[in-house]
Amino acid sequence: MGVVGAGTMGAGIAQVCATAGLQVLLVDVDLEHLRRGQEAIAASLARLQEKGKLPRPSAEIGGRIRTSTDVADLGRVGVVVEAVFEDADVKADVLRRLDGACRPETILASNTSSISITRLAAATKRPDRVIGMHFMNPVPLMTLVELVRGLQTSDATVAAVTGLAERLGKTVVLSKDSPGFISNRVLMPLINEAIFALDEGVGSETGIDTVMRLGMGHPMGPLALADLIGLDVCLAILEVLHRDLGDPKYRPAPLLRRYVAAGWLGRKSGRGFYRYDRPA
Ligand code: NAD
Repeated sequence: MGVVGAGTMGAGIAQVCATAGLQVLLVDVDLEHLRRGQEAIAASLARLQEKGKLPRPSAEIGGRIRTSTDVADLGRVGVVVEAVFEDADVKADVLRRLDGACRPETILASNTSSISITRLAAATKRPDRVIGMHFMNPVPLMTLVELVRGLQTSDATVAAVTGLAERLGKTVVLSKDSPGFISNRVLMPLINEAIFALDEGVGSETGIDTVMRLGMGHPMGPLALADLIGLDVCLAILEVLHRDLGDPKYRPAPLLRRYVAAGWLGRKSGRGFYRYDRPA
């Protein structure tokens, strides 16, 4: 199993694969991100072990994850999940390089939150073996994987990735290859509207989040959830919805743009709509 990108999602995906008994090679271009990803995995495994929720000792699971800064090392893996920045050009470039590095039968899955799988598949010579495998954050706790079938994705690829997701203990839902798929088509307009409401002074951060938690039964308010997802990731997804669906109702809130421009990216940078003691 290969995972490209050792950020919030890549680290979580590597962790659940190793927990299920798979050998994982985790690749990132940035050594510091690779180190932080390994730290996040170790901390998460320690927490789960303390709660008695691991099938094997955390050291054994952690020992299954090796790291590299070079996709060329992924030559022998069966499936690769890419979880690099939510940018179509960056992802297409990574898929092109994976296509050159991996065996012809290797499945290339993308964890994209919004970008067309058909478009990403076109960057490779194996569009039948490219699929969207959209994990949810935090990966070790959330049991959904949204599968996205591109125009040329084969039945065999869908079956293989469904089997993999089930081995990881996840439930699969199939979505059409439409901007934002099911999950972010529904979630991002809610988060965006919460940010507009905050900017217009309709309520405070805690006011808006408390209404949605206690009034609507959401486990987390939309602003706290945006901080968890990453404000840069939310902005990138909204840009895709806005551009690719062509409807002004998806226009990203200007306050979201300002926070991202300031480097306030949510939990991972220590500040978003809320402040966090230390970056996650
Ligand atoms: P992140 O910024 O935390 O991590 C991205 C990582 O990719 C970084 O470590 C970066 O160094 C690495 N990277 C960038 N370019 C690379 C390249 N060319 N080769 C190798 N590594 C490279 O981002 P994230 O939140 O983990 O999001 C990753 C993907 O997962 C995005 O497509 C995002 O839309 C999707 N996603 C995110 C969430 C979420 O809640 N954050 C949920 C579901 C899906």
